[in-house]
Amino acid sequence: MSVAVLIDHRAGEVTRPSLEALTLARGLGTPIAVWLGATPSADAVAVLGEYGASEVRVADIGDDARHVAKAAAAIAAATEDAPVLIVISTFVTKEIATRLALLTGAGVVVDAAGAELVDGHVETVQTVFAATWNVRTRIESERAIVGVRPNTTIASPAAESVVPAVVTVEVDLPEARESIVSVAPIVQNGGVPLSEAPVVVSGGRGTGGDYTLVAEFAELLGGAVGASRDATDEGWISHEHMVGQTGTTVTPALYVAAGISGAVHHRGGMQASGTIVCINMDPEAPIFEISDFGVVGSLFDVIPQAIERIKEHRGA
Ligand SMILES: Cc1cc2nc3c(=O)[nH]c(=O)nc-3n(C[C@H](O)[C@H](O)[C@H](O)COP(=O)(O)OP(=O)(O)OC[C@H]3O[C@@H](n4cnc5c(N)ncnc54)[C@H](O)[C@@H]3O)c2cc1C
Repeated sequence: MSVAVLIDHRAGEVTRPSLEALTLARGLGTPIAVWLGATPSADAVAVLGEYGASEVRVADIGDDARHVAKAAAAIAAATEDAPVLIVISTFVTKEIATRLALLTGAGVVVDAAGAELVDGHVETVQTVFAATWNVRTRIESERAIVGVRPNTTIASPAAESVVPAVVTVEVDLPEARESIVSVAPIVQNGGVPLSEAPVVVSGGRGTGGDYTLVAEFAELLGGAVGASRDATDEGWISHEHMVGQTGTTVTPALYVAAGISGAVHHRGGMQASGTIVCINMDPEAPIFEISDFGVVGSLFDVIPQAIERIKEHRGA
């Protein structure tokens, strides 16, 4: 069975969540990479082949790819023969997935943490309601669209890499009622969006507004800097760093909460992380209830020690 994967790419390079999605797709069938944009470089095609893509279908609709209805039409044209499509769950792809479902009659699940085939149907798992419930959904229709969250599958190359055929897809673009005048990316966290970062180190009110240690720790761990809403509301750090119900939902392999109490609104955006570590002066803080590892102490004492030990360990 062909399993199409909408490839996310930046500056022509395949992003890590796309490799995760290809890895997931291999468990369901034969992956086909769908590439919106100019023909990918030979290097990008080789990476896609390494992760099992048998074909790369290129729909170059230029700036129209920013328009969700047009992007949906292009993806529909590229995936006509694929019963399953996997996209990486983002605000934009979730809208595209919904439009595609309407266009193609597919069943759709977004924000999934995984998918498998059961009795010939795609079944997904999602963690919902502030990570307090796991939901398994079976897609009953013949076509299935699954939006997967970054960091929920470990990307691994295929046992045997293939040389994918690169195929150009012709698209009839629909008329649009609106047009996008300009798009300007907000570069943050060294270019890795918070929602995709494998490690997030967040600081809250306990930082007192000093993010130096939080940022240094995040950099050492190769992660992104997050924050609680109180910290962003104080203007200590910009709003795009906010994790939680109002902020970004993150599912990194490692989440460090420093000086964050663990209010339900914050937990809702990080509780599904792989390993949760907290540093808090108050042993009664609710964040300890959901942490795998907690340190009672001031982040200003604990983080420098952690940094020192990690550097020592790496040097050893
Ligand atoms: C509708 C709604 C939506 C919301 N959405 C969000 C959201 O998306 N994200 C979010 O984060 N919040 C959200 N909130 C706010 C949320 O309810 C909490 O108020 C907020 O998360 C608290 O932030 P905090 O943990 O940094 O601060 P506090 O709750 O004040 O906790 C600070 C913690 O730091 C500890 N501390 C103090 N000094 C130190 C130190 N030196 N070292 C270590 N620990 C120290 C304290 O013991 C305390 O536990 C929302 C609220 C509402 C009503």
